[in-house]
Amino acid sequence: MELNWNQIDDKWRSRWYNAKHFETDPNDKPKKFITVAYPYPNSPQHIGHGRTYTLADVHARYYRMKGYNVLFPMGFHYTGTPILGMSKRVQANDVELIEAFKNLYNVPEEKIKEFVDPVKIADYFHEEIKAGMIEMGYSIDWRREFTTIIPAYQKFIEWQFRSLKQKNLIVQGNHPVGWCPNDQNPVSQHDTLGDVEPDFTEYIVIKFNMGHEIIPVATLRPETLFGVTNLWINPKIVYKKVKVDGETWIISAECAYKLEFLNKKIEFISDIPGSELIGKKVTSPTSEDEFLIIPASFVTASTGTGIVMSVPAHAPYDFQALEDIKNGNQKNISDSLRSEVEKIQPVAIITTNGFGKIPAQDVIKRMGITNQSDPKLEDATKEIYSKEFYEGKLNSNTGKFAGKKITFVKEEVKEWISKTGKSDIMLELTNESVKCRCGTECVVKLLNNQWFLDYANKEWKKKAHDCFESMNILPNDIRTEFLNVLDWLRERACARQHGLGTKIPWDSDWLVESLADSVIYMSFYTMAKFVNSGEILAENMSDEFFNYVFYGNGDSNAIANGAKITTGKLEEIRKEFLYFYPVDSRHSGRDLVPNHLTFFVLNHVALFPKENWPKEIVVNGSVLMDGKKMSKSMGNIIPLRNAVKTYGADPIRLSILISAELLQDADFNIESVSGIKNKLQSMHDECIKFNSPEKIGTEPEDVWIQSRLSKLISEVTDSMEKMRLRESLHHILYGFDSDLQWYMKRANAKNRDNISGVLNKVLTTRISMLSPFAPHIAEEMWEKLGHSKMVSKSSWPKEEAQTDDRAIQNESLLSSVMNDISNITKVTKITPKKIIIYTADNWKSKAYHKILSGVISGETNIGTFIKELISQKETETVKKDPDFVKKTLKDILSEPTELRKTKMQAGEIDETEIISNELSSLIETDYRIKLQVFSENDSKKYDPKNKARMARPYKPAILIE
Ligand SMILES: [Zn+2]
Repeated sequence: MELNWNQIDDKWRSRWYNAKHFETDPNDKPKKFITVAYPYPNSPQHIGHGRTYTLADVHARYYRMKGYNVLFPMGFHYTGTPILGMSKRVQANDVELIEAFKNLYNVPEEKIKEFVDPVKIADYFHEEIKAGMIEMGYSIDWRREFTTIIPAYQKFIEWQFRSLKQKNLIVQGNHPVGWCPNDQNPVSQHDTLGDVEPDFTEYIVIKFNMGHEIIPVATLRPETLFGVTNLWINPKIVYKKVKVDGETWIISAECAYKLEFLNKKIEFISDIPGSELIGKKVTSPTSEDEFLIIPASFVTASTGTGIVMSVPAHAPYDFQALEDIKNGNQKNISDSLRSEVEKIQPVAIITTNGFGKIPAQDVIKRMGITNQSDPKLEDATKEIYSKEFYEGKLNSNTGKFAGKKITFVKEEVKEWISKTGKSDIMLELTNESVKCRCGTECVVKLLNNQWFLDYANKEWKKKAHDCFESMNILPNDIRTEFLNVLDWLRERACARQHGLGTKIPWDSDWLVESLADSVIYMSFYTMAKFVNSGEILAENMSDEFFNYVFYGNGDSNAIANGAKITTGKLEEIRKEFLYFYPVDSRHSGRDLVPNHLTFFVLNHVALFPKENWPKEIVVNGSVLMDGKKMSKSMGNIIPLRNAVKTYGADPIRLSILISAELLQDADFNIESVSGIKNKLQSMHDECIKFNSPEKIGTEPEDVWIQSRLSKLISEVTDSMEKMRLRESLHHILYGFDSDLQWYMKRANAKNRDNISGVLNKVLTTRISMLSPFAPHIAEEMWEKLGHSKMVSKSSWPKEEAQTDDRAIQNESLLSSVMNDISNITKVTKITPKKIIIYTADNWKSKAYHKILSGVISGETNIGTFIKELISQKETETVKKDPDFVKKTLKDILSEPTELRKTKMQAGEIDETEIISNELSSLIETDYRIKLQVFSENDSKKYDPKNKARMARPYKPAILIE
C-alpha cells in the first residue's frame, strides 16, 4: 500500500508537539547549542532555503540521540530596508510585485492590501515561514522565538551598542561606504539586488596639465607614471569641463557624478566633445615632458575619469591601441596625427624575469592579439599586472625609485606625487554593477561623522583571528576564506536612516543596521523564554540586567530589584545563559561568509569572555533545481510548503541532502524524490515484515551480518561527526543492501525460518540512524518494528565492542568463490554437472600470512619474501613453487589497506571446513548439484585437470565439468 506522507507527517508532528519533545531547559546532561541564521521574512521560503535549516536540524537531532541536551531555537529578522522597500512598492501599486504575491506566493488579496504597512508584510511571511519549518519537522524549541523589533530585543541591541561604544569599537568618522543615492542610505549585501556586497578600491588620480586646465587620469598603478607616452580619450564621449574644489577639470559626466559623493564640490562649466581634445598636448605633473592626447575605443566614461594614461610597454591595451593607429587600422585618424603617433615608442620602466624588454608586446604576440577590441587583452593585462606586481623591479629611468620592487613601491610613489599636490584619491566600486533593491545604481560615498563599527581595529582582528584558529570550521577548506575576509575588513557603517529595527541609543536619528543587530542574538535565545512568558518585562531590562546575565557583574539583589524580578529568577536567567553558551554550532549558507559569519565571530570576541566564544561554523552551498539556478525569472522556484504538501517532508529533506556534501551545490529534482520515496516505502514494508525482535540465530551468516552492521554504524558515525551527510545517507539507505542480499541468499539456501530477529536488529539500527534525516517516516517505521518509545528519543546505535573479523573473512571467501563459479559458467557457457573446489595446502596459508604481515609493515620485495620463507621449515616448500609468492603478493597488493588489516586480524582460516560446511547449500540452491571439496594435499582427490596445485589462500582452485 502506498504511504500517505502527509498523514504520517501530521501524526508524528502532533506527537512531538504534545510531548513537548523539543523544548529544552538546562539539566544535568552535557548540552549542544545549535543555531542557524534566522530568516528574513520578506517572502516564503523555497526549497533552496530548506537546505541550511535541514542541515542544522539533522545536526540537532543527531546530537540529541548521542545523549546531549540540545537547544535548537529560531527567531525572525525584521530589521532593515528590504521589507520597507516592498511596502513602498505595494503603496505605489507595483503590478509585478503584487502579481508575485498573488500567484507565486498565494497571498490572499485582503492581506496584500495590508502590506502597505511593512510590519504586516514581515508578520505575514514570518507565520508562513514558521509553518513551513514546522511542516519540515524541524526540532525547534518555539518557546524561544522572537522578532528583532520586539521591545526586549531592542533593549538587548541597545545594550550591545552601548557596550561596543564603551570599548571604542563603534567610532564616529568619515569613511567610504556603498551608497544608494535614491534612498540616501548606506547599502550592504542585504540591500542590493542579487545580494551583492558592495566592494570598492582606491584609485590614484594623477593631474596632467593642459594650459590652466587639468586633465586627470585615475590609475591603480601610480608608478607607471614614469612610462607614460600619451593620454587616451574616447572621441565619442562628451566630456565635462567642471570646477572641482576650485580647479578646472575635464572629466566624464559619470566621473563628475561620482566625485560629488566623495565630497568634492563640483560646478559645471561647459561640455567638451572628446574629438576636440584629440591632438592636444598635456604636461606631466612631475616633469617637463609633454604628451599627446589621442583617441582609443577602449576608453569608457564609467571607469575613472574617462581619460586614461598610456603606458604601452606594460599595458597591453595601450600597446595595441598605438599599433592600431600605426597600422592604419584605426579609422578617422588624420595623417598628421598618425605621423605624430608613429614617433611614440614604449618606455619600459619595469624589469621582470620571464618578460622581454617590452612585456606588453611579448604577451600580445604570444596570445595572437591583433586589435584593441580583442577580449584576450583582459587576460594579457592580468598576467602582466600580477607578475610585475609580485616580481618586477623599477628600471633606472624612475629616478629615486630605481631598483625597488613594485610590491613595495606603490605607496611610496603615491605619497611622492601627493606631496606635489598633483594627485588625488578616487574610490570606485570594484563589482561590475551594484544595484540597490530600489533599482538605483549604487556608488561609493564618503560618509562624514557617521557611526562605524571599527572592524579595521587590529587588536579586534587579532582576537577574532584567535577565535577562528581555535574553532572547528566545516568544511575546513573554507577557513582561509574567513581569514582573508578578516584581513581585508575595514570600518563598516552600522547606522541607517530608514527601515525597521532599533535606534542607535545615543543618536535617535539613526537606526542600527541589519548586519549589526544580528551578530550576538544567539545569546538572546537563552532569555527569550522568560520574555515570552512575561516573567521579565522589556521595560525593566536595563544594561545592568544584561551585564549581570552575561557577565555576572553587579549586585544580584539590587539588579533583580531594578528588573522587578526575584533574585531567584535573575539567577535562573543567568544560569540558562551559562548553561547553553557558547554556541556549539552555527549553520549558514556560503554567501554569509564575508559578512554575517565573520561579524558573528568579531562581535562575540568583543563582547564575551573566551569561554563563550563560538565553537563551530558549518557552511553549506546552494540548491539547484534540475541542475539550474533557482530564480523567479526562471520560474523554477518551488515554495517549501507546496513541496511538503506534494512530496512529503522527508523525501524533500533527503533529496536536498543526498545530492551533495556541504559546500557543493545540491541538486533537487523529481526523479531523485521519487527514487527516495520508493526506497523509504520498501524499508517501511520490511519493518512490517520483520516486526518482532525474536532471538537472533548463531549461524556464521548471523555472526557475519552483525559484524557488518557494526562496521556500518562506525562508518555512519564517522561521517556524521564531520557533517558529511551525503555520505552518511548513502551508507544508511544503500550501503547495506548488498550485505543484506548476501545474508538472505545464505539463509534461504539453508531454508532458515529464524532470521526475523537479525533482520529486526538490522532495520532497528538503520532506522535509528535514518531518523535525524527523515524524522517522520523513521518514527512510523520504528513503531512498526515494535518499539514503544519514539526513535527521536532513542540512543544513537553503538558499534559492537568487537567485530568478528574471521566471520567477515569467511563470508567474503564464500561470496568470492560463488562469484568465480558464476563467471566461469558464464564464460564457458556450460551447465555444470560437477563443481569441485580445491583449497590451498597448509604451507601456503602460513606463507600467505607471512607475506601479508610483511606487506603491512612495508615490505614488497619478492626476493626478500622467498628467501625468508625458504629459511623457515613450515614454508620451505615455497622453493618448489616460487611463482606462488609472486601471485600471492599481487593478490595482497591489489586489495585495499583496510581489508589487509582485517585479514591479518582474522588470522589463518580453515577454508576446507568453511567451504564444505557453508558453500554446499548455496551451490545446491543455485546449480542443483552437490559440491565436492578437496584439500590440495588430499592424495585421494579427483583432479583430472591437475588444478589443485593452482589453489591459493582466499583463491581456491575450481573445476567445473
Ligand atoms: Zn535604493
